[in-house]
Amino acid sequence: MRYDLFTQHTIRAEVRFGGTGLHSGAHVHVRLRPAPPDHGVVFYRVDVPGTPAVPARYDHVVDTSLATVIGKDGVSVSTVEHFMAAVRVAGLDNLRVEIDGVEMPVLDGSAKPFLEILQNAGVKAQRASKQCLRVQRAFMVSEGDAYIKVFPSDVLRICYTIDFPHPLVGRQALTWSFDPGSFARDVASARTFGFLRDVESLQSRGLALGGSLENAVVFDDLNVLNPDGLRYRDECVRHKVLDFVGDLGLCPFPVFGSFEAYKAGHALHNRLLRALCERPGYVRFMPAAAASARRLMPLRPNLYWKPPVVPA
Ligand SMILES: [Zn+2]
Repeated sequence: MRYDLFTQHTIRAEVRFGGTGLHSGAHVHVRLRPAPPDHGVVFYRVDVPGTPAVPARYDHVVDTSLATVIGKDGVSVSTVEHFMAAVRVAGLDNLRVEIDGVEMPVLDGSAKPFLEILQNAGVKAQRASKQCLRVQRAFMVSEGDAYIKVFPSDVLRICYTIDFPHPLVGRQALTWSFDPGSFARDVASARTFGFLRDVESLQSRGLALGGSLENAVVFDDLNVLNPDGLRYRDECVRHKVLDFVGDLGLCPFPVFGSFEAYKAGHALHNRLLRALCERPGYVRFMPAAAASARRLMPLRPNLYWKPPVVPA
């Protein structure tokens, strides 16, 4: 998939797909259609009278407890993060996403099928320049022992660490820099994961109804239950990077910055985005072409220095 970072893009041709929602268990149909410059990525609930629009933006996130849910005027679309990761990595800025249900299909639990669908649709450059958002000052957001530190950088760079008390997971860390090829190879296929004891309690509360070994990695106390095992030894942290790329995709513009996340999740990702997009001085909006032409000071991390905490 080839595109430049300086102009806006949409898909070349309409494409349709369908599948089951991870939490709702409902089968939905999705139609992706090209959209004009500056339209943004917008979901349209075609099953609701008037086909209400729900923009895929951080400031329309209404729930982050199990997945990222966007909503507007009481109409919502759930579990958009894996799809949004594929949309942003494919370089798309403008897209109509028509859906006839409350939740995006989970497909195989990763972003790979979404990337393939977008590749089939093709990417088309539009006659409009692209803005980007560049981190100007270091800061952090935190919740308990979880945090995300942010530093200025010339590229999007993510260093993610997780720590789960499980013999097959434990502490895993991955550093990934924005590159569509490496996303497709190293991140896109990593599936969502859960623990059997949590799945049972979620299903008793009417959640994770569409979850199965076909669309999620499930661990019992010692092992992985999926017959084919893991796709990567560290599939869990790779999936967290995927989730983070998808949640960052709810920023209307590509983000240039270096992020260090520890035990974070959708809620903290969203708090970070609100801090990024709404605090003048921490970031600068600029044309993508200018941002790319300008070199900032190389990042020199200081392990003993704590960036200022942005209050919740
Ligand atoms: Zn996920």
